[in-house]
Parts: sequence; structure tokens; C-alpha cells
Amino acid sequence: MLRSKICVDCGRRIRPRYTRCYKCEMRRRRSGWHDPEHLSGQAKRDAKLGRSKFYVYLLDTDYGHYVGHTANVRARVKAHVDNKVKSTAGGGPKLLWKSSPFPTREDAAGFEAALKSLRDQSSERFREITGHAPVPLKSVPASGPGCGLAGFIWIAAIVALVLFILGIFQGS
Ligand SMILES: [Zn+2]
Repeated sequence: MLRSKICVDCGRRIRPRYTRCYKCEMRRRRSGWHDPEHLSGQAKRDAKLGRSKFYVYLLDTDYGHYVGHTANVRARVKAHVDNKVKSTAGGGPKLLWKSSPFPTREDAAGFEAALKSLRDQSSERFREITGHAPVPLKSVPASGPGCGLAGFIWIAAIVALVLFILGIFQGS
């Protein structure tokens, strides 16, 4: 039997891994509401790695305030700064604030979603919690058509290099 779920907002049938249908999800995001991310399988991995402290952190970026959660703030911020995280790459991410530790990833993800909602609703509560006036996050240009162009340039460069090398061998 095929497992299926219904959208919590409108009751339409949706795939099991979603909470809402696409339409309701977009409407919710436009009004600044976020759900905690799905953490399938993470609890087991965390237990195996002996993780028992999870933090929510706030980054200032050129795209706005990025909110995330992690078990290792220092390593995670380094990954952001080294442009290894797609959603903040090239945005000059800087750590502004981190939370007190949460005992489970689930707790941290719940708080993360709440903080994102407060950010996108430009809530005063966001500033009370983090000490910074909220800056809603714009979608990142790197994941748009610019990314496709960069990929095309890379492929063109590689093809040119191969042709160049073939040319050298034929010339000798
Ligand atoms: Zn719906």
C-alpha cells in the first residue's frame, strides 16, 4: 500500500515526506512562517557520535540574516566562511549570535524554525532574543541562473583545454 499524507492546511493529498502541499507551503513562506526541518535518521547518527548539545546560530550575510543549527558552532561557521554552504556562499557570512545549548537536535531545529519565522515577520522578539534587528533572507543568487552560467563556462573551459592538449599532440 502506498503511504500518503494530507496537507495540514488544505487537506489535499501530498507525498509522505511533506507537511503541506506546494501551494500552501509557498503561501506560508510568503507570510514568514517556517517549519522545523525534517531530521530523518539524524537522531541515531547523533547518538552514535555522542552529540548531546545543539546550538542555533545567526549569521549576518549580504543576503540577510541566516539562521541555522549545529552541534559544532566553530566548524559550522568555518564551513560558512569557507563558502562550503550553498545558501550563504559568497555572502560574507559572519557569526552574530549563538543560542544556549539544546539537548536534542529536534529542540534546536524547532527553535531554529521559530527564529526564522520571527526574522521573516520582522518581529521585535527576534531582536530581544539575538540582540540584532532582523534582516529577512533574500534568495541566494548563486542557486539561480548564474550557477548554470558558471557551470557552462567551466565545461567550455575544460573542452577548450582538451582541444588545446589534442592540438599539441597532433602538432608534434
Ligand atoms: Zn495545501
